[in-house]
Amino acid sequence: MRSPKALATPAFTAAPRDGSQAIQRAPGLSEEVYEAILARLMALKIPPGARITVDNLVRELAVSQTPIREALGRLEGEGLVVKTHLVGYSASPQITRRRFNELYELRLLLEPDAAGRAALAMTDDILAGLTQAAGVMSREGSADDRARYSQFARQDALFHDRILEVAGNELIRETLAHQHTHFHIFRLMFHARVTEEALDEHAAILAAFAARDPEAARQAMRVHIERSRDRLLPAFDL
Ligand SMILES: [Zn+2]
Repeated sequence: MRSPKALATPAFTAAPRDGSQAIQRAPGLSEEVYEAILARLMALKIPPGARITVDNLVRELAVSQTPIREALGRLEGEGLVVKTHLVGYSASPQITRRRFNELYELRLLLEPDAAGRAALAMTDDILAGLTQAAGVMSREGSADDRARYSQFARQDALFHDRILEVAGNELIRETLAHQHTHFHIFRLMFHARVTEEALDEHAAILAAFAARDPEAARQAMRVHIERSRDRLLPAFDL
């Protein structure tokens, strides 16, 4: 049984190369492999556009090809990896400035309004769940910075998705989910400030929910998305 720690620190032990199905796969191994590759993509350790070689990952993660191919397939579905016929996998190119602006325009049209509606539908139970989600994000993890950064990206995605769910329009929720916004924007820059400031802004959104105040929730969400955009925009000038 492999621990997540073994994956966080690449192990250079020889992995079985025969693809033997006799190997007992630990439960959760696919998830761990997915997390390990996601962390490398989010932290640009595998840079945008770079080739991803299955054999290299087999060596680095000391696992067989199967969970790696599964993880790459999942990441392909999430838009972080592209598969080219006869060439194989590579990291998706960085989103363009135009696409970035379009994403934020879309978010600003949909998310503040959804936050307002979520405030009206708020219950103590839902609020407790959202607060817990925010608490998970702020907790100092034992993982290294890069792993924590990719975890934050996903938890932020879940936090925003949950608010859209409470707001109640499934089409809006699906539309935003299909953009995989959070993975793409967090991949622009690996920076601790991005997460720290976002947590304060999330706290303001939660306070508006706690007060059941739709106007305050709309405003807090608008401010959060605008600041998020302004934090990440300099990435295009690098
Ligand atoms: Zn957020």
